[in-house]
Amino acid sequence: MKIQRLDLSRLTTIGVGGEAEVWIVETLSDLQHATEAPYRVLGNGSNLLVADSGVNERVIRLGGEFAGWNPDFSGWVGAAALVPSLLQASARLGLSGLEGLHGVPAQVGGAVKMNAGTRFGEMADALEQVEIFHDGALRLYQPSELGFRYRHSALPRGGIVTRVKLKLQSSSEEGVRAKIALVDAARKGQPKKKSAGCAFKNPPGDSAGRLIDVNGLKGTAVGKAMISLEHGNFLVNLGGATAAEMYALIRKVQAVLPLELEWEIWGEIVPDEMEVSL
Ligand SMILES: Cc1cc2nc3c(=O)[nH]c(=O)nc-3n(C[C@H](O)[C@H](O)[C@H](O)COP(=O)(O)OP(=O)(O)OC[C@H]3O[C@@H](n4cnc5c(N)ncnc54)[C@H](O)[C@@H]3O)c2cc1C
Repeated sequence: MKIQRLDLSRLTTIGVGGEAEVWIVETLSDLQHATEAPYRVLGNGSNLLVADSGVNERVIRLGGEFAGWNPDFSGWVGAAALVPSLLQASARLGLSGLEGLHGVPAQVGGAVKMNAGTRFGEMADALEQVEIFHDGALRLYQPSELGFRYRHSALPRGGIVTRVKLKLQSSSEEGVRAKIALVDAARKGQPKKKSAGCAFKNPPGDSAGRLIDVNGLKGTAVGKAMISLEHGNFLVNLGGATAAEMYALIRKVQAVLPLELEWEIWGEIVPDEMEVSL
């Protein structure tokens, strides 16, 4: 097991966040040791806004025996496996089930926790069984026990997804690639700048991006944090943005629209109130 103090801006896709003690956990006994004090679990850091002051808890990152999977998808898939790699590998084998997650830069564990996906499919649809570490031991769950709904799961308190069994259907490489192309077409126009994906959940029957757009908020900026001109639900880091700037931008949107944040906030963000006032 490796323990290092790291800047979380290096471990999050939006490139924002201060320091934390990062525990790279590779075995069950590492996991038991790492969870003896307050902790958080970091996946690929693609749905997180971390405070500029970092976090005080241990940050657990899975690796080693929690990262692998069999090339033919038999057996268990480690929670630290990257969803884009799994999707490409499943496409080559003509195995269908993960296409709805095309473009989601998650680890499997993070995708389970968030029930990540698109209108073409979500993580819960592709799960047969989930192995979760909590209260010192590994336990197996059926997806129906994990309270999945839109961008939400109800994992046991403090639960760490360690492995999953995927439910993939036999198809053809062309069939899987055709579905990926559909999702890809729907993602066109999403910004390439550093972000954590959609900042807000879509309200029932509507799109947060559309609401932000029609309210004229696209292009609003606080320092180096900006609402993308390409997609209203993407709050992007133009380079060197702080968590306080990102948070002030979130508050500006929420002052106009009652949108629920999809991103998870880690640590104490102290927004600059001058920036928040419209
Ligand atoms: C460019 C871009 C596009 C995106 N598009 C989409 C999209 O189309 N659909 C979508 O749903 N999301 C999208 N996202 C958001 C993000 O990829 C998802 O929310 C994803 O599920 C986060 O996974 P992660 O591994 O990065 O988790 P992190 O961001 O690291 O963590 C998110 C949450 O999961 C928890 N977690 C992580 N690993 C584990 C584990 N092993 N066990 C238990 N909990 C864990 C964390 O503690 C945290 O609560 C996008 C993000 C980006 C940057």
